[in-house]
Amino acid sequence: MQFNDQNIIVTGGTRGIGKAIAKNFLELGATVLVTYSGNKAAALEFIAENDEYKDRIFIDCFNVADASACEDFFTRLPFEKVHVLVNNAGIRKDNIVAMMPNEDWQQVLDINLTGTFNMCKAAVMKMSRQRYGRIINITSPCSHFGFAGQANYAASKAGQIGLSRSLSKEVAKRKITVNCVSPGFIGTDLISDLPEKLVDEYKQQIPMKRFGTVNEVANCVSFLASEQASYVTGTVLEVSGGL
Ligand code: NAP
Repeated sequence: MQFNDQNIIVTGGTRGIGKAIAKNFLELGATVLVTYSGNKAAALEFIAENDEYKDRIFIDCFNVADASACEDFFTRLPFEKVHVLVNNAGIRKDNIVAMMPNEDWQQVLDINLTGTFNMCKAAVMKMSRQRYGRIINITSPCSHFGFAGQANYAASKAGQIGLSRSLSKEVAKRKITVNCVSPGFIGTDLISDLPEKLVDEYKQQIPMKRFGTVNEVANCVSFLASEQASYVTGTVLEVSGGL
């Protein structure tokens, strides 16, 4: 796989899984635009760590949940064509339904699901004109299992799959593919609050008896983003150790 002359956007690309996805694309020759929502220290660290690729890195900061911020972002792109969009930005705000503040329900849906919609909507306009594109949305096994305390997160992640499947059918004839990657437990900031006892319990439930790595997710994203994956659309690729 190689991505020379390709322009790639990775939302939430400065930390965790998104950072590994962005780094992988840089290693494979792409020009990569990573976005984040406010953690400037992590963004600066990303730039410092990838100094050797500095001519092919761009960074932007906005909230994917804000539709007009997403539209504005697409008007100031540093490149004309967008070959690949990875909707990776996401948050968790866990609580049982009975105790979940309405704002936490709404915020998780707004960022994880509406954010994906906002970015897809702007990207497909460009990709349709180009008659080429790859969209990869990062969902979660929670979308079909459901985990206690994650109704908002599970609903947002299931919604991403429905959105992706519908969109894939709308744009297939323009050589645009839309797929999801569904990572299992991956050791990032997002799940760093899980108590050690729960982590051990989860690992016992995973057939491979371990959490995955950010690079194991990034490799699968790169495949779906490649020209070689031209006949794959509307799917969910599970990267979950057999969960
Ligand atoms: P992470 O380490 O917490 O990183 C999240 C990234 O998303 C950060 O770059 C963050 O920007 C950005 N972000 C958060 N809210 C945003 C917003 N409103 N607008 C724009 N960017 C925003 O998370 P992660 O573990 O890498 O997770 C990445 C994706 O994988 C998420 O969609 C998550 O649901 C999914 N996932 C993760 C796991 C796992 O076990 N880790 C499993 C399944 C699925 P700042 O740095 O500015 O905050």
